[in-house]
Amino acid sequence: IQSKLPRVGTTIFTRMSRLAEENQAINLAQGFPEFDCSPDLQKLVDKYIRQGKNQYAPMAGVMGLREAISQKVYASGSREYHPESEITVTSGATEALYVAISTVVNRGDEVIVFEPAYDSYVPAIELNGGVPVFVTLDPQYESIDWEDVRSKISPQTRAIIINTPHNPTGKVWELSDLQQLSEIAEEHDLWVISDEVYEHIVFDDRPHISAASIPSLAERTFLCGSFGKTFHTTGWKLGYCLAPAELTVEFRKIHQFLVFSVVTPFQFAVAEYLAEPTHYLALSAFYERKRDLFLDAIKDIGFIMKPSEGSFFQNVSYEKLSDEKDQVLAERLTVEARVASIPVSSFYNEITDYKTLRFCFAKHDETLLRAAEALHKAMW
Ligand code: PMP
Ligand code: GLN
Repeated sequence: IQSKLPRVGTTIFTRMSRLAEENQAINLAQGFPEFDCSPDLQKLVDKYIRQGKNQYAPMAGVMGLREAISQKVYASGSREYHPESEITVTSGATEALYVAISTVVNRGDEVIVFEPAYDSYVPAIELNGGVPVFVTLDPQYESIDWEDVRSKISPQTRAIIINTPHNPTGKVWELSDLQQLSEIAEEHDLWVISDEVYEHIVFDDRPHISAASIPSLAERTFLCGSFGKTFHTTGWKLGYCLAPAELTVEFRKIHQFLVFSVVTPFQFAVAEYLAEPTHYLALSAFYERKRDLFLDAIKDIGFIMKPSEGSFFQNVSYEKLSDEKDQVLAERLTVEARVASIPVSSFYNEITDYKTLRFCFAKHDETLLRAAEALHKAMW
């Protein structure tokens, strides 16, 4: 068979999770919470299953959930999205991203991708015959060089993919970044795909500034979100895409034939749970404490690190401690120290030598402390 994705293998997340399991290592690699979702949310799922909400949901999603999303987004200061025509519930953000990319990318179109980049963007571009054009950032980058971004734009550029808070750097974009993006997108008539799955995980009183909060940008943006991160339910694969009606019409044509609709009782449950803002507004403080606990526990190891600004990831550079390639060190630490991480090179298109590992701190305090102790022993 002729491969459509010759460069793609099993994802690094699957590989490191498998290696962690084989070695009974603490898994700070694949990004998912170690703790369970709220019992109240579980009860709601149970309630709706018992109520018989077990058949196909409407193609675009359960209306109550679309209304709840619309209200939440509007309350945060963003554009008002019409539940009927501008909100689609998807199978996680992964489907939302795939469909948004498919909606706008045609053969030969170029798409600007900031790297390090989440691994699903490039295959989605390539399966649509598009060409990713990379803007390369350091794993602990300070700011975006917008002149560099401009220099990558050609007459073939159709879209730009952004991600804030960012996986894996933990960087949160500032208003000035979104303003620059808005200018460039308007000037070159680009579509914007904004991955905001970590929108409710931002630290040190930083705001999350959504692409949907800038009116001119919102008009050309597909905003992709996920409840997996927000409610500790990555296994439910429940996400959404917000986009102006004209874009949503085309988005839904693809969504309709990819999955048609997604898990009905879970949509009802999340709709009801989402109505209470404290259910997601408390998340930043929850993870900020874990970030601080983890940073404090690893502070004497000798890593170079900038505190994560958002998401549940912390990048650390080990350049002062070892010359090993990050893939080699990540594997060795999994086997010998029994702590799994993600080598940051896997978020880059070309082979890099940044000597940086990504740790996920969405874990119990005790797990983070045990991991820190094991890392300490292994690195010294
Ligand atoms: N984007 C980013 C940046 C992510 O880290 C993830 C998930 N892990 C996703 C998208 C996919 O989200 P979901 O699990 O809802 O498909
Ligand atoms: N988003 C998760 C991470 O970055 C992984 C999701 C997956 O395994 N596909 O670790």
